[in-house]
Amino acid sequence: RLAAELVASRVLDVPDFPKPGILFKDLMPLFADGPVFRQVIDQIVAHHGAQRFDVVAGVEARGFVVAAAIAYATGTGVVPVRKAGKLPRRALSATYALEYGEATLEVHEDAFIAGQRVLVVDDVLATGGTAAAALDLVEQAGGTVAGFTVLLELGFLDGRQRLAPRTVHAVLTV
Ligand code: IMP
Repeated sequence: RLAAELVASRVLDVPDFPKPGILFKDLMPLFADGPVFRQVIDQIVAHHGAQRFDVVAGVEARGFVVAAAIAYATGTGVVPVRKAGKLPRRALSATYALEYGEATLEVHEDAFIAGQRVLVVDDVLATGGTAAAALDLVEQAGGTVAGFTVLLELGFLDGRQRLAPRTVHAVLTV
C-alpha cells in the first residue's frame, strides 16, 4: 500500500493536547506497528534514494525514531537535534518563536564532516518553526541539507511556505 494511506491509517487525533483548542496528531500507532512502520520507512528511503545522503538528523524526540529507522535501513548514521541543555559537548543553538514563548534546539558543533549530505527528519510539520531551526543548525554545523522529510504535514499551517525555497517531502499532507 502507499505510504500515505499507511500513515493515514495509523494516526490518531487527540483533542485539546497539549493545550485546549489544539488537535494533536499522534503517530505512536504507526511506530508501534512493525510491518506498517517498515513499509513507510522503506518508501521514504526509495523516495530519496539511499545514495543521496550520508547521515540522518532527527529532531527530538519523535524524529529520533524516524531517523534511526532510516539510518539502519541505509547503513548511514544518526545525528540528534536536541532540545536545549541535553547535549554533553559544545553545541550550536537556534532559538525560535512558539505561539507562546520560545524554544531552542541544539546540535553538537562537530556533528558533521564538512559537506556531509544530511537528510533531516521529523514526525510532524506544523508551522515550520522547528524545521527551520533544525535546518539552519545543520548548515551552521557544516552539513549540507540533502532533504527534509516528515511523516505528516499539517498543510493549513503553511509550514512548507515558511521553509521555502527549501523543499519538503511529506509522506501524508492533511
Ligand atoms: P512546528 O514547529 O510548529 O512545525 O511544530 C513541529 C514540531 O512540533 C515537531 O517537532 C513535531 O514533533 C511537533 N508537533 C507539532 N504539532 C504536532 C502534532 O499534532 N503531533 C505531533 N507532533 C507535533
